[in-house]
Amino acid sequence: MGSRWSAVFHAGGDVDEAALTHRLQGAVERVEQQMSTWRPESDLERLNAAPVGAWVQIPRELAHVLATALEIGRLSQGAFDIGVGDLVQAWGFGGGARVPDGGRIAAIAGRPSFEPPKTLQLDPAGCRARRLAPLRLDLSGIAKGFGVDELAREMTAAGLSSWLVGIDGEMRAEGTKPDGRPWTIAHEKPTPGEREILGVLELSGAAVATSGSYRHQRQVAGRAVSHTMDPFRGAPLENDLAAVTVLSETCMAADAWATALMVRGASEGPALARRLGLAALFVQTDGKVVSTWPCR
Ligand code: ADP
Ligand code: MG
Repeated sequence: MGSRWSAVFHAGGDVDEAALTHRLQGAVERVEQQMSTWRPESDLERLNAAPVGAWVQIPRELAHVLATALEIGRLSQGAFDIGVGDLVQAWGFGGGARVPDGGRIAAIAGRPSFEPPKTLQLDPAGCRARRLAPLRLDLSGIAKGFGVDELAREMTAAGLSSWLVGIDGEMRAEGTKPDGRPWTIAHEKPTPGEREILGVLELSGAAVATSGSYRHQRQVAGRAVSHTMDPFRGAPLENDLAAVTVLSETCMAADAWATALMVRGASEGPALARRLGLAALFVQTDGKVVSTWPCR
């Protein structure tokens, strides 16, 4: 999915680094093979290509991520919407750069919004899924986080208890550094083209993810367009938030919620986060920071 993974750890001298690297690479490769929209032969693209109504056998992990995505879609009242695939493609953020075509975009945006179970049906026990409407599913707002959880699982399986793993800016940490201090992560200021630090997060036994409109942008007719879609308007998101960072137990949840809360905006986002007990940090476009992180 055009991103890089990393793993840092502390351990005694008896770790076979080559074998560990191989397992970690295998874990991200599995996620890519199942959930990438950039690979025509991925399991998700197989589901997207199957006729509406036809059941498609899918791997257990993909079924789990689809189910979580639907649940977060429900809890966010439609802000997290994996049915935005056509919009993402039309605005040139999917595989292959495409120049937006006004007519096509209007047709997609005018469609009924993504409403499971009307549009996607899951049969978790049978590891099957079927689309009930011609919507292109897109898991790019959650799959990276899940990939980080898979890296975490490999680290634990390898007997390691002190590590920091990540894919791009989505991170998860366990234990502490050898000096007993927590892993620290720089929280970047959401200023396009700049690399300044807003603060430093301490992370242990938790995951963090950030969604922002400041980095993955395209210039369309002289305007910066966000890769986050507003499912309610059927267009790239334009609101009063520059970035949202979410802290959670799993990186999958942090990743999806960062996107969902970003869509919800500066007034509804914090209210929803508080109601659901989500630890989130909102950076508004005017620079104001609102946090729902519990006090320490
Ligand atoms: P990043 O890649 O910066 O971590 P996100 O986690 O926010 O960003 O994921 C952005 C991707 O999620 C988009 O490129 C698109 O494929 C998909 N997406 C866009 N809008 C939504 C949405 N409202 N709900 C779910 N997924 C979305
Ligand atoms: Mg996300």
